[in-house]
Amino acid sequence: MERIEKLIIIGSGPAGLTAAIYGARGDLNPLVIAGWEAGGQLMLTTDVDDFPGFPEGIQGPDLMVRMRKQAERFGTKFLDEDVLSVDLKERPFGVQTESQMLKADSLIIATGASAMWLGLESEKKLIGRGVSACAVCDGFFFKGKQVLVVGGGDTAMREAQHLSKYSSKVTIVHRRDQFRAQPALVELVKSKPNINFLMNHKVEEILGEDKVTGVKLRNTQTDKLTEFSADGVFVAIGHKPNTDFLKGQLPLDSRGYIVVTDEVKTGVKGIYGVGDAVDYNYRQAVTAAGSGTKAVFEVEKFLESSK
Ligand code: NAP
Repeated sequence: MERIEKLIIIGSGPAGLTAAIYGARGDLNPLVIAGWEAGGQLMLTTDVDDFPGFPEGIQGPDLMVRMRKQAERFGTKFLDEDVLSVDLKERPFGVQTESQMLKADSLIIATGASAMWLGLESEKKLIGRGVSACAVCDGFFFKGKQVLVVGGGDTAMREAQHLSKYSSKVTIVHRRDQFRAQPALVELVKSKPNINFLMNHKVEEILGEDKVTGVKLRNTQTDKLTEFSADGVFVAIGHKPNTDFLKGQLPLDSRGYIVVTDEVKTGVKGIYGVGDAVDYNYRQAVTAAGSGTKAVFEVEKFLESSK
């Protein structure tokens, strides 16, 4: 007879693994489809100093290994593959991975979001060596240093605001002469004496061998190239939720975020959305973990009521 899992969790960042810990302890015997790039965005982070319980801080990848071990301790099963497609039209729900078709009575989707990058070779080379997409994670390392923030939306303003607490000088580089960000945030950032603006410029190349030393910029109006010294480059050009595989199956908003009510309930009963695939606002490991917990409580109620 076909095996039907009580709960499949798609994604293995803080939201998915916390759901796994609670689900396993709640006797839901969860299966986590972890993905080839298991662990989520914290795998790209070095020191994590704001996750409670680690007074000396912890490396992002170490934190994720610990969460996974904790989930395994209570019997969570893992499949280190990507999900290719889902069939959510009826229960049990279908989840097609690279090797098999799985069925589940409930699903928690915790596929997270990925920071968008500029797509430069030099950027790829220097990620973690002065190039970052997370000021909250990495800003502290730029105490007294000069940094650039690339982008003109709310994220760029928030990143610049955060960095201004540590860095001696923050320069927002934006490719147009108008910001996309909400005016109130722009005003807030303008009020900071150590934040400057460089409009109509885009980054052509990030300079440095082992660490960032500056950027090569192109003026988008005159085409003129200039070099600009900096110790860090924060790319803040938006995040993209990892939800392409849900298109046509689950209500998503215009940017691809899973639409939820009551914090975690998607448009389909028995399917819950958590973490950064839902949340474009807080985007913290600890808030993602909290949403994973909430979803498990909802799964328990749902499975009980549908017996
Ligand atoms: P966004 O609004 O899409 O803005 C992205 C910015 O990056 C734009 O200014 C864009 O330039 C620029 N950009 C995109 N691709 C680029 C490239 N290849 N090179 C250079 N610049 C590039 O994204 P976001 O700022 O992440 O915001 C996403 C959503 O989250 C928004 O709805 C926002 O309101 C929300 N959010 C809210 C808060 C808050 O505090 N309330 C904080 C963060 C995010 P152009 O303007 O030229 O297109």
